[in-house]
Amino acid sequence: MLAAEVNIYSHRHYDTDQVLYDQFEKETGITVNIVKAKAGELIKRLQMEGRYSPADVFIASDIANLHRVKDLGLMQKTSSGILEANIPAHLRDKDGYWFGLTKRARVIVYDKKRTDPKSLSTYMDLANPKWKKKILIRSSNNTYNQSLLGSIIAHHGEPKAQEWAKGVVSNMARRPKGADRDQMIALVAGAGELAVVNTYYLGQMANSKNPKDREIAQNLTVFFPNQETTGTHINISGAGITRSSKNIREARMLLEFLSSTKAQQQFANGNYEYPVNPNNKPSPLVASWGEFKEDTLALETIGQNNKKAIEIFDQVRWR
Ligand code: FE
Repeated sequence: MLAAEVNIYSHRHYDTDQVLYDQFEKETGITVNIVKAKAGELIKRLQMEGRYSPADVFIASDIANLHRVKDLGLMQKTSSGILEANIPAHLRDKDGYWFGLTKRARVIVYDKKRTDPKSLSTYMDLANPKWKKKILIRSSNNTYNQSLLGSIIAHHGEPKAQEWAKGVVSNMARRPKGADRDQMIALVAGAGELAVVNTYYLGQMANSKNPKDREIAQNLTVFFPNQETTGTHINISGAGITRSSKNIREARMLLEFLSSTKAQQQFANGNYEYPVNPNNKPSPLVASWGEFKEDTLALETIGQNNKKAIEIFDQVRWR
């Protein structure tokens, strides 16, 4: 008999994940094999390999790619009382094709000495001309911004969402370049006043081995938008079982393990993400940014709005 195994295709690239896989292996005797690449490459590979794909589990670091994989018919339904108990409904697919494993809030980061948080309010306000040349945000080909716009489409409709995107483009401090972390570096260097980033990047910088990163992070703090309205936009990294899986039982066990209180605490502490499991608390650093109201819009809706979001970004020339 072959030894039990589970094969993962993952877009996540954090050391903490490997620690969790090692633990799972030790507890269950199931060997975990992992292929790491960008989501786009992994999706292409799943398509090419078809039913011969060795992948059992697909892991993405945002809702847009999870939804894409479901849409392409590359996932299968999973039914698990454990997953349903551990993961709130808006953070998983209603049909059981994908499950959120960690949460990240897309927030506004500002310099504590330079910006009065009273001047901040909503995502929509980022389009206000008072922020002319002040906003640092990455390019639109990144799914994090596509998902944020997907949530704005859901709450405000397409015309207002387009107006917003246009307004933000005209308020940009510079042509979008770099990733989230680069926006914070540019902010402290004086290139702009507000950076739109996922929370864990600030956590990573605050705990970086590089003293320069730590110094930058010390100047910055988090503002949670939309507290008086729809709540701060949430994205997830998450996983689903592939259509081609030959190790469905092992794959389901792995997902259940990753949603457990023990694993969730390691996600939270190791990578400064928010746990999805309501029994867990964020790491002390993340907790120090304060509690906040999160947008509980079903992530599925954001996935469905992805194509529209990309169209709008093109129309308003958000590079
Ligand atoms: Fe990321």
